[in-house]
Amino acid sequence: MLSRKELIELYKKGDLFELGQIAHEIKEKIHGKKYYYTINRHINYTNICVLNCKFCGYHKKPEEEGAYTLSIEEILERLSQENSLREVHIVGGLNPALPYDYYLNLIRKIKKLKPYIRIRAFTCVEIDFLSKISKKSVEEVLYELKEAGLSAIPGGGAEVFSERIRKELYPTKISSERWIEIAKTAHKLGIKTNATLLFGHIETVEEVVDHLLRLREIQEETGGFEAFVPLAFIPENTELSHLREPSSQKILKTIALSRIILDNFPHIKAYWVFLGIGLSQVALLWGADHIHGTVIEEKISEAMKREPVKKLPPEEIEKLIYEIGGHPVLI
Ligand code: SF4
Repeated sequence: MLSRKELIELYKKGDLFELGQIAHEIKEKIHGKKYYYTINRHINYTNICVLNCKFCGYHKKPEEEGAYTLSIEEILERLSQENSLREVHIVGGLNPALPYDYYLNLIRKIKKLKPYIRIRAFTCVEIDFLSKISKKSVEEVLYELKEAGLSAIPGGGAEVFSERIRKELYPTKISSERWIEIAKTAHKLGIKTNATLLFGHIETVEEVVDHLLRLREIQEETGGFEAFVPLAFIPENTELSHLREPSSQKILKTIALSRIILDNFPHIKAYWVFLGIGLSQVALLWGADHIHGTVIEEKISEAMKREPVKKLPPEEIEKLIYEIGGHPVLI
């Protein structure tokens, strides 16, 4: 493994193709020609949130126009329309009007409706919130959610593990130490988690490298991460709308760097909802091995871009993979 200094140099001085080649070789060593996807549906159960992260164009106050909360019945209705689902992906804002029981009942009822799907729900930020509203420890909350049917937790809320950026962009969000503590607790209980990086705003290369090295270190300790999901910042309709979105070059270099540093993570995702379908396909040659899934509906990026996310059907995902010479694997 290269040193921190060498990694920073590699990113700054290495050209796009050099980084891509190194990352792709690591990907091929781990997965050969296989590229992964799943048939999933996102559920964003509420956009009401007590926090106000500057990069987020999704959150609303309860009285604001467009604020919503889905009932458990509405969520079950949406899920019952999908027959071949392998996974449901549930994230939302921190809504003080929802009781702790809502979360447990939601998981229990989904488990009853679709016993064979993976339920990936509630980021470390939401788990911290659940611990506060229930006055239970994180370990108890995770244990109860697991008992209810939770399979895994998504990677959101990690943002960038830099105190400088946290103070600037999301000062009221849980600290990186708290996020890490919750992820490690989940791993201890046998709950796999993902990890994200929100990049392309005010972060430096040094901060990105430190974020990735920290994740690598945690993975060495727990082995509990399934996938790393680099999220390209969407500036529209946020408090940071004066910034430009990251260039394709920056996106591909960041994905390549992720694969190089996180060679102990099973998967690096090309999350097409944030990257776009075309660039996600290219990212599969720059170190990513997983194109996420069908998604069906996603309200977070929709709120920023103000345009609906169109479902990506499995046959289209497979076509994208075949076009780059890969073998699709449905997981
Ligand atoms: S990023 Fe999440 S926690 Fe922050 S304001 Fe948006 S919904 Fe709330």
